[in-house]
Amino acid sequence: MSIAQSILDIALEEIAKQGCDRLDLIRVQCGALAGVVPESLQFCFEALIRGGPHASARLELETIPLLLRCSSCGRTFGGEGQEALWLPCPVCGALTGHSVEQGKELQISHLEASVSGGQDS
Ligand SMILES: [Zn+2]
Repeated sequence: MSIAQSILDIALEEIAKQGCDRLDLIRVQCGALAGVVPESLQFCFEALIRGGPHASARLELETIPLLLRCSSCGRTFGGEGQEALWLPCPVCGALTGHSVEQGKELQISHLEASVSGGQDS
């Protein structure tokens, strides 16, 4: 729940800077290692905005696949999920020491908002 709250807080702060007061769309990049379950985040987000001024906002999750770099041969390889961490390098077969190049992301990549034309604050 707290991740959804943080995303919403950041988004609302950002759209306020643009002079908007109604959130329409948040797109979030979510790495395979970010520890986020997309369905759960979606559910929490919807629960948070329900009945409020941003009830029509949509959350879009963009999954960033895991990308690892082999410490032995320097090749990059990846996989969809966290289990790719435990795979040997497909080029040289090294089992350990891979570094994570991509997959820890959890960030807002796109926001859409509008002015509701409602009451002044
Ligand atoms: Zn290798």
